[in-house]
Amino acid sequence: MALSGLQIQKLLPKTNCKECGSSTCMAFAMKLAAKKASLDECPYASDEARQVLGAASEPPVKGVKIGVERVSSLGEETVFYRHEKTFVNQTVLAVNLGDDDDLALADRIRDYTLVRVGETLTLGAVAVTQTGSAEAFVAFCKAVYDRARLPLVLRGRDADALALASAAVAGSRSVISGVTADNADALRAVAVRDGHVLAVTADDLDGLCALTAKLKADGFNDLLVAFSTHSLAEEFQTNAIARKAALSGGVKALGYASLRFIDTGDGMTDMVEATTEIAKYGGLVVLPSFDPAQLAPLMTLRQNIYTDPQKPIQVEPKLYAIGEPDKSSPLFVTTNFSLTYFLVSGEIENSGISAWLLVPECEGMSVLTSWAAGKFSGATIGKFAQDIGLESLVDTRTIVIPGYVAQISGELEESLPGFKVLVGPGEAADLESFIKSVLVNHA
Ligand code: SF4
Repeated sequence: MALSGLQIQKLLPKTNCKECGSSTCMAFAMKLAAKKASLDECPYASDEARQVLGAASEPPVKGVKIGVERVSSLGEETVFYRHEKTFVNQTVLAVNLGDDDDLALADRIRDYTLVRVGETLTLGAVAVTQTGSAEAFVAFCKAVYDRARLPLVLRGRDADALALASAAVAGSRSVISGVTADNADALRAVAVRDGHVLAVTADDLDGLCALTAKLKADGFNDLLVAFSTHSLAEEFQTNAIARKAALSGGVKALGYASLRFIDTGDGMTDMVEATTEIAKYGGLVVLPSFDPAQLAPLMTLRQNIYTDPQKPIQVEPKLYAIGEPDKSSPLFVTTNFSLTYFLVSGEIENSGISAWLLVPECEGMSVLTSWAAGKFSGATIGKFAQDIGLESLVDTRTIVIPGYVAQISGELEESLPGFKVLVGPGEAADLESFIKSVLVNHA
């Protein structure tokens, strides 16, 4: 847990020698508490101070990375709610394959991408579940890794099969799942040998805490935790209890990202479970099969939850070319909120024309919000257009504004002499018909 400045000051030499650059040890302690200095800057800090401060500065949920060529980070979370501070590492989504599945699915998992508001969203791992012999399981794991080059989640029937599969994909920074009190010593040695992460499980949280504490005491701390739950309510509750215990209770034994295999046998229930994981602290979530119809909404949800709520996602303010416009192509204006930009540019593209899209600085706010905040007015748009030299960049002298801010027409015409304002539709979805019925026919 984080220490206060006063608690840190008690650990310092209190000689006020100023060699750290602060005028007093107390001032230095305050900087340490605010994470604006490092203890290394004090040459006289004791071993005890280093030990206590080192432990206190560890994130309450331990960070761990999986993968080599496509690396995913898990854990490192510091808050319970996203409005306190953004979540750090988003839920990693993986897809399960049985070792008798078609190998070509490994390529589809590797290649799956969803592009949304300028970000390319992908899957982070492939889980392989043993269904037959250990030999077939090991051979399939190796073949999947060779094709997908993604970290695997190894799900074997016993420690021997897991050890063989681990060796077959050594160096891939994969996850060995199903680690229990009975096989922990053997699988710890395997994970150390092959450079993998262990996902531990137990019947209850007490058992889980005992197991993570033992592995940590034995010198292995690259861990995930898999909770044993039997209902959606229990899943939700357990995820919340573990996060709360790690963040507020200082329970380091629960301070690890989670692993959950989802496979209820019912597509809708699977989606509800996956949604719960993404919304409530899920670390690595394994979906039962490769289904783009499930992946798209889950990735969209994940992107929304893991963006910084205090900093809207935004695009660079500038004049964008949509398609291959020439100087007399139509000219539109919208705000630099990413969602708005990509909706508007997408609808213009869908209409089949090329055009210019003027995007002034609106601090990432949507049309009506930025207008209400005075960031998307006739004056601000006009000033931005003049600053970038719009007049010389395009020959067209008609600018289409969003219908919801029709009231800025007069002010914009005053701010942009020589330009005529045309009021477009309120909704981006109506742009295509507007372009076809007004702009194309008009031209
Ligand atoms: S260098 Fe260390 S002992 Fe000297 S003022 Fe800074 S914190 Fe205190």
